[in-house]
Amino acid sequence: MNERLTRLRAEMERRGLDAVWITSAENHLYFSLFDNPDGWMLITRTKAYVFADFRYIEAARREASPDCTVIEPPRRRTDYLPPLIEEENVRVIGYEDERLSCRALASLEEDLPQCTFVPLGRLCIELRTVKTEAEVEHIVAAQRIAEDALAAVLALIRPEMTELEVAAELEYQMKKRGSRKPSFDTIAVSGSASSSPHGVPRPCPLERGFLTMDFGAMVDGYHSDMTRTVVIGRADTEMKRLYRTVLDAQLAALAALRPGARNADMDKIARDLIDGAGYAGCFGHSLGHGVGLEIHEAPNLSAFSGDLTLRPGEIVTVEPGIYLEGKYGCRIEDMACITEDGYRNLTAAPKELTEIL
Ligand code: ZN
Ligand code: ZN
Repeated sequence: MNERLTRLRAEMERRGLDAVWITSAENHLYFSLFDNPDGWMLITRTKAYVFADFRYIEAARREASPDCTVIEPPRRRTDYLPPLIEEENVRVIGYEDERLSCRALASLEEDLPQCTFVPLGRLCIELRTVKTEAEVEHIVAAQRIAEDALAAVLALIRPEMTELEVAAELEYQMKKRGSRKPSFDTIAVSGSASSSPHGVPRPCPLERGFLTMDFGAMVDGYHSDMTRTVVIGRADTEMKRLYRTVLDAQLAALAALRPGARNADMDKIARDLIDGAGYAGCFGHSLGHGVGLEIHEAPNLSAFSGDLTLRPGEIVTVEPGIYLEGKYGCRIEDMACITEDGYRNLTAAPKELTEIL
């Protein structure tokens, strides 16, 4: 029995839901084990229907969990959904309010006037937050690909390359090693552009100074996320001090990761260190986020995490940065998995300051 469906059904019972309607690719993959970017599911208390059209039906029959009933639906939804809803005696349906468009919901309500639709809120993402060992291994596999790609790219980088070329090379090297696609749009920003945490790579030669690369690979639907900052040319004293401060902040926060620790405290540890070094106000984003079937998911390591505490099996990034507007910036990001007594760093790429001459 698919244990994910069992946990979902326990929550459905608690909330009085007869069924849930799943359309997001991530939740579809999570519950059916079948990756369909354009499919949908109806999960009742006893059945899990996977609807896949002609483009995906062969793969669905082959790959979907044996707990699922795979259906190639007729073209019009009204031909199959209302009779199925009657057969299954469904009246209250949960839907992904974070993902389903207003129009899609209105159309469902129109097709099924006998049903009440209830927002699922954070139900699915909360089920996904604590990872199984197998899920962690998918993420580690993606991370190893990203690290090998970085090593290959660092050997290739020349100052005359453009930021876009560096980004393209990272993506190519990851794909060559088995990544289905980049986890997100690869960031490769140099010099003055490195002061934007999520800058967009430019079609112009690398500027001297910091080069920040933030990227990830994807394996079996699972993402990885890593940032490394290197220096094109020589680092001056100020750059060395800034880099050291970011690294110290990251190491201090990593060392504090353990079950029961407050997520907000992790952010505070890194932030206090950066502020104390004279860079107050220059670390303008949160310390980290969860990673899984989505590149950003629960839990966050943020000043706004309230009393949330870490649990074994959660995967979080630890990514402090210092950004000096108009000048340059630097970020270092690892992924860590919370264990029973601490954490396991899933990122093995070196972090000592690298100069590319
Ligand atoms: Zn990242
Ligand atoms: Zn990240």
